Amino acid sequence: MLEKFERYPLTFEGPTPIERLNRLTDHLGGKVEIYAKRDDCNSGLALGGNKLRKLEYIVPDILASGADTLVSIGGVQSNHTRMVAAVAAKLGLKCRLVQESWVPHEDAVYDRVGNILLTRLMGADSRVVDDGFDIGIRQSWEDAMQEVRDQGGRPYGIPAGASVHPLGGLGYVGFAEEVRDQEAALGFAFDFIIVCVVTGSTQAGMVVGFKPDGRAGRVIGIDASGTPEKTRVQVTEIARSTAELIELGQPIEDDDIVILEDYAYPAYGVPSAATSEAIRLAARTEAMITDPVYEGKSMQGLIDLIGRGYFPAGSKVLYAHLGGAPALNGYAYTYRNG
Ligand SMILES: *Cc1c(COP(=O)(O)O)cnc(C)c1O
Repeated sequence: MLEKFERYPLTFEGPTPIERLNRLTDHLGGKVEIYAKRDDCNSGLALGGNKLRKLEYIVPDILASGADTLVSIGGVQSNHTRMVAAVAAKLGLKCRLVQESWVPHEDAVYDRVGNILLTRLMGADSRVVDDGFDIGIRQSWEDAMQEVRDQGGRPYGIPAGASVHPLGGLGYVGFAEEVRDQEAALGFAFDFIIVCVVTGSTQAGMVVGFKPDGRAGRVIGIDASGTPEKTRVQVTEIARSTAELIELGQPIEDDDIVILEDYAYPAYGVPSAATSEAIRLAARTEAMITDPVYEGKSMQGLIDLIGRGYFPAGSKVLYAHLGGAPALNGYAYTYRNG
């Protein structure tokens, strides 16, 4: 589906591993088989994660543009801005980042550890601003672009999560194709795919990629934004524009976009007691590390859905692990006793 698009490799060669989570499967009753696809282990660049899969299809456009500075935006503990800083370092470009105060969370070292620490180490010019959470295009990002221009630089803008970039959905179309190849080798197909959703291009790409084999609606997005209406609109738009871009040849319907809204509470970036329990359970049964912003919430969703019988007995469920563990450092006090 992606033959006509150029890809600049940033991830390890070959597919990311799929592993069966035996102890978690047993712990949750054994009727639903749980597997994880480890996109959190996809690269040697600054601990990797889902944003690199997206950026692989954007880098050729960056190089063709002649830009000398990448400009992007995210929260203080953004995985995305860490990955943009990594790409800039790898390509020898400058990097200007706007880090917004998306998370109403207080930890003495929140703005010094984890993602933002790694981002600064890689030489990015990272500036924290007061704006709150929003997945859309922001004035502060436009201002940063203008600032680079005013200083004689050539900026290349990458929106939050690399999502509303015209090429932002391609990487996770590739994920679906990769899963299909792995399924052929495994000898079975997954019945459901669980994915955390916030800015939307990860789920949107999967929806497009799984559409041809009738599984678009089997991609279950677990909202972690706390603003699910905006996220749903953005996922739908990105899925449709990506389908058009790759000439999918069939329309993306509204019911191809499945997003469950019950797990994002109390707010983006703030874990509920159930989120923290899910993080502990994955860590204690599988040594699989999830974070309170993203994967902890999709893990919480997976556990709750299994408990409520959402998946028929015998289902094989693939949990897409998208990365994000560095943010845990910003929650040192929350998890001081494990
Ligand atoms: C960005 C991110 C997500 C959400 O992906 P979107 O494409 O923004 O919806 C989920 N998990 C992790 C670890 C992320 O960094």
